[in-house]
Amino acid sequence: MNYQLAREEMVDVQIARRGIRDERVLEAFRTVPRHLFVPARDRDHAYADSPLPIGKGQTISQPYIVAYMTDLLNLQGDEIILEIGTGSGYQAAILGGLAAEVHTIERHDKLARAAQKRLSKLGYENIHVHQGDGTLGLLEFAPYAAVMVTAAAPAVPRPLLEQLQDGGKLIMPVGERFGQVMELWQRRGEEFTSKKLAPVAFVPLLGRHGWDTPRL
Ligand code: SAM
Repeated sequence: MNYQLAREEMVDVQIARRGIRDERVLEAFRTVPRHLFVPARDRDHAYADSPLPIGKGQTISQPYIVAYMTDLLNLQGDEIILEIGTGSGYQAAILGGLAAEVHTIERHDKLARAAQKRLSKLGYENIHVHQGDGTLGLLEFAPYAAVMVTAAAPAVPRPLLEQLQDGGKLIMPVGERFGQVMELWQRRGEEFTSKKLAPVAFVPLLGRHGWDTPRL
């Protein structure tokens, strides 16, 4: 399979044609080798218009959803960003090409280690994977110009809003366990504004300020 061609077609048909016009965003999607972020047996489906399993019951989101969330942050290249829900590391790799530094938190130790290894091998030196409960944010490197949460919770975790810089944006799916609405928040001083965008379906954000963690 010609992955380069598949990638270009994914960008044209699934992303640009659905209204994403920012050339920097489109170029990031043409560059990141999505097939190297999915299990080997699924490589030939990596550029399909759908999410894919990545192990531990988790998924890599549909390319358009990754592009939609990325585009809404309107990144210029000099930002420090926090992502919650590293998963495969694909969304972090996209953000890494559009911002100065990306910190990304994953609660599953095995997924976090695999993503760090993959990103290092691919040469993404500005992406830092942390293992832990992302609902607490990461105070050490705050404030952030943008926070992106790629799992859904009943409400936006307060620590994530508090770790935004003035003017900073937060994007995340908010709602019920099996259906949510994408929300875009912005900080202005100590005030926060929010907009409800499109309906979506994400895996749950588990943790202190998310859904309860299932007992093992
Ligand atoms: N962004 C990922 C990618 O590009 O592959 C896909 C994310 S997947 C839809 C959601 C991820 O959020 C899962 O890997 C899950 O383990 C993680 N997650 C859930 N709750 C979390 C938490 N409290 N902190 C960090 N990660 C969490």
